[in-house]
Parts: sequence; structure tokens; C-alpha cells
Amino acid sequence: MTNNSLIKAVESAASVGITGHIHPDGDCVGSCMALYRYIRKVYPEKPVKVFLEQPADNLSVAEGLNEIESDFTKPAEAYELFVVLDCSSEDRFEPSGELVSLAKNVYVVDHHMTNTHFASEGVISPDASSTCEVLYDLLEEDKIDRDIATWLYLGIVHDTGVFRFPACTEHTMNIAGHLLTKGVNAQQLIDDSFYRKSYAQNRLIGDAVARSELLLDGKMIYTIVTKADMDRFGVGTKETEGLIDQLRLTRGIEVALFARQDAEDTYKISMRAISKVNVASICASFGGGGHMFAAGCTVKGDLSDAITQISAMVMLQL
Ligand code: AMP
Ligand code: MN
Ligand code: MN
Repeated sequence: MTNNSLIKAVESAASVGITGHIHPDGDCVGSCMALYRYIRKVYPEKPVKVFLEQPADNLSVAEGLNEIESDFTKPAEAYELFVVLDCSSEDRFEPSGELVSLAKNVYVVDHHMTNTHFASEGVISPDASSTCEVLYDLLEEDKIDRDIATWLYLGIVHDTGVFRFPACTEHTMNIAGHLLTKGVNAQQLIDDSFYRKSYAQNRLIGDAVARSELLLDGKMIYTIVTKADMDRFGVGTKETEGLIDQLRLTRGIEVALFARQDAEDTYKISMRAISKVNVASICASFGGGGHMFAAGCTVKGDLSDAITQISAMVMLQL
């Protein structure tokens, strides 16, 4: 994979498509929207579209979400360049997969250690806090306006858990500082997009935390939320964010696991570790991936079996 500049790739492409991973989170939406708004601003004549599943309402922090394209059917003419952001493997950019495969060139911007290097060009920085941090370094600073800065700030805030996780470095904080000079309303963004929950969400989180269980002598905590639980509290699958963060904050644990039922026999698993266990490698063995201390995967079939296997893998690393 060559590391030609993103700007050069965009400038030489007749049309640009942008996409990120399924169930887009703050970093995915932030990086896709920041690049989209940047191209719209700096190259107003260039055809550009951003393809994403509809993001959760709390991620609507700046202009542009209503311009997201959710029609993934094949266009009359393929995009010359597709930029894929915050996405570690080809199966993760469904439902845009076919559109991306039709593009002449694919450029990846990412920070997952489990990235499969599916593109011919791009930048993958496993040490970066977020894709927004990687993207910031590829854009021309003087062309970043308040809107673009706000989208970038969203991704950094969300993937660092508000500047707390180990991947948040001096460089991350310097970028965040520069973004503030562009007029980002940081306090409001952090409260509204990260911490604020609906009454229903808070009740579901409270219930799931109350039902959580400890394993491995208190070193691991887990909880499960079924479809019936979400229905009972009137909460959608997009609205369970924050739960894993609460589990992670349990004193004495090294690993937190949250399993959410997405279909009859399908569970989305989120894992977090504090400082010792590589949860990316554990999730990778279930077909998922992510980062050393934050990763996920999807399991089909017997969930309690999967949790038993996972806790055995955790024990080996403790
Ligand atoms: P989550 O638990 O969904 O918040 O994800 C934590 C991190 O792991 C994020 O960086 C995700 O992009 C990554 N991740 C989650 N699920 C998967 C998966 N099935 N495959 C690869 N990476 C994943
Ligand atoms: Mn992401
Ligand atoms: Mn990310």
C-alpha cells in the first residue's frame, strides 16, 4: 500500500465517494463528514457523496448529516475514488461494499491495529487515537473551518472516551487545541453527543448494570441486553452506547464485556480492557477486531458458550 497524499488523490479524481463502517460511531461519522465538508468547501465543483447508515441522533453536532446518501444501489457511473474511513476490513463497509468495489481507486484512512490493508493507497496509524486524528494530519490546516473542526473534534472525543484512553497523546491534545481555535463548542458537544442519555436509555443502562456479573475473581465484568430488554425500555440498538463505559469503570476489573442481541441468535459483543489484556486479538478470533483496549465482534449461536470461551482467553492474558 502506498501512502500518497489524500489531497493529491482527491485532486486527481473526477468524482469522490466517502464511506465508513456499519453502525457508524462518532469517529466514523466525524471523519466521513469532516472529509465530505472539506471537499465540498475546497473543491466546490467536484462531485462528492458520503454513504453511511443513518447515524444516531446524538451524533448530529454540525452541518451536513441530512446530505448523507443512504441509497446504496449502483450508480450509472462508478466513483473514480472511494475514501474509506475508520474501517478495518471489507466486510465492515457494508452496505457500501459494492459501490467501493466499483471505484477505480480506494484510499483508506484508519487507526485499527486489525486493518486488513484492503486498499491500494492510504494511511493506517494504529497508534492514533482516532481516524479523525489521522485525517486531521492529512488535511490543510488553514482550510479547516468551524464545521469541519467540529466533526473532527467529535471523532477524537468519542474514540478517546473524552480524552481518557491511553491512545490519547500529546499530539491528540494539540490537534484538539487547534480545533478549539476554529470555534468548536466543546462543552456542548461533549455533553450532548457523549454523556447525555434519554430517560429510557438511563433506565436500560441502570438495569443492565444491576444485572451484571463478575468472572475471574472480579477481574472481568459482563452484562447482556436482549431485544426484549430494549423493547421493555423503549430503546433502540443504536442507543446502548455508554453502557460498556459504565462497566469499564468498575473498580478492580481488567476486562468489561457487553453483549447486545441484534437478531434471534446474533449478539454484538463490545469489549474493553484497562491495561493488560489485548481484546483486539480475542475479538479477532471471533471474526471481529478493533484496538488493544477496545474491540468488538459478532457471535452467532450460543452466547454463554462464547462468553465462557472469551473469559478463558482473558484468563490466559491476566
Ligand atoms: P465497539 O465495542 O463497537 O464500540 O467497538 C470498539 C472498537 O472495535 C471500535 O474501534 C470498532 O471499530 C471495533 N470493532 C467493533 N466491532 C468490530 C468488528 N466486528 N470487526 C472489527 N472491528 C470491530
Ligand atoms: Mn469506529
Ligand atoms: Mn475509530
